[in-house]
Amino acid sequence: MNCYNFFSVVDERKAMTDLISVDDALQRILTHMTVLPAEDVPIADALGRVLAEDVVAPEDVPPFPNSSMDGYALRAADIASASPAHPVQLTVVMDIPAGVTPVRGIGPMQAARIMTGAPIPEGADAVIPVEQTDDRWVSDGRASLPEKVAVFRSLEAGDYIRPAGEDIRSGQMILRAGTVLRPQDIGVLVSLGHVSVPAIRKPRVAILATGDELVDVGEPLLPGKIRNSNSYVLAGLVSIYGGVSLRMPVVRDTLDDVRHQFEEALALHPDLIISSAGVSVGTHDVVREVIRELGQLDLWRVNLRPGKPLAFGQVRGVPFFGLPGNPVSAMVTFDIFVRPALLIQGGSQPDTRPLVTAVVGEDIRSDGRRTYLRVKLRRENGQWVAHTTGTQSSGALLSMVMADGLLIVPEGMVEVPTGTVLPVRLLRDL
Ligand code: AMP
Ligand code: MG
Repeated sequence: MNCYNFFSVVDERKAMTDLISVDDALQRILTHMTVLPAEDVPIADALGRVLAEDVVAPEDVPPFPNSSMDGYALRAADIASASPAHPVQLTVVMDIPAGVTPVRGIGPMQAARIMTGAPIPEGADAVIPVEQTDDRWVSDGRASLPEKVAVFRSLEAGDYIRPAGEDIRSGQMILRAGTVLRPQDIGVLVSLGHVSVPAIRKPRVAILATGDELVDVGEPLLPGKIRNSNSYVLAGLVSIYGGVSLRMPVVRDTLDDVRHQFEEALALHPDLIISSAGVSVGTHDVVREVIRELGQLDLWRVNLRPGKPLAFGQVRGVPFFGLPGNPVSAMVTFDIFVRPALLIQGGSQPDTRPLVTAVVGEDIRSDGRRTYLRVKLRRENGQWVAHTTGTQSSGALLSMVMADGLLIVPEGMVEVPTGTVLPVRLLRDL
């Protein structure tokens, strides 16, 4: 289980000197991220969108006092003496189904048949549920209106009446800017008459995958080639965190092709550009050179495992992430750096993915870099116990499929004995 493919300690110490810590890198990256402008979104498309402005209720909901029961609207004083042994008889003067305005009011010893949600007529101050009367109507809408109704109990004024504004008061603060709209939020906005809402524009994220070895899925897998899975993984992550992904064709490891595809990506007016691979120290890793040409490289190489070669900068003013090519490294660096950046652009709070603490269930060795290990979690004696998923190769994407989370070994920790308590970033709901 503990056969991690660690770099040689000697090489690592040398490289360590120019590695930026994860926290410093994140802080530096986030200073470059700003919230995108708002746009008007039709209410039917607003689920999951980030509200751009506070919403204050312009009116009461419900807009008029109405009945909370099917029954009879009446005056509470008229039935003060009512009991099953001595019911009080009232004269039924009108029928008020839901959706109408009462044509008249009621006077002393009068009642109006009323349905749930229908407006209370003038003169009435309470509603007696039909079950507390001698009426036994059939709910087919055709039951004829009785001339009299006997009421079997008394009521307080206001009973079974929902006052205007019971749910929402005119002027009340309803939803704050930054809220990610849920179905019930949308329901409230609809109740208040919002046909559309101001929402932060979704970040448009161009996704490039560089590598001479890559073919797109569906193309023949010739010798030496692998399928470009990163673009699809990154597109999925972008969409989970509220962005719109613009997947570009596979980019060859040449200055010309990388340059060309970055220009093509820029033509789509992205808010963010993500590339995978080509940022390491290989002879064909040309992405950084193109970034320097078209923009600026702000940082490169983080004290992180997996994901050390991470690069960040801008291309003609558009923030750029150069993620490592290894599929697990690309996912881990996305989670740590791109996710919060994307959430900020989209108007959300950056830290929304839950962390749990877990007890490490086996002896682990680390190399002193901040390390993210793929683990399965088991509940034992009221706590989470973490076991690694087997190979921790940064090329083994199936380890991300099997893992419940990423166990975070802090920088500087080399021995992680069984029983150590560490944070785990969850990859699925437990
Ligand atoms: P590089 O960052 O170019 O050194 O690539 C590191 C590793 O990631 C190599 O084994 C690549 O074949 C692999 N890799 C690069 N890009 C992708 C991709 N888009 N999908 C899957 N694997 C990739
Ligand atoms: Mg490569």
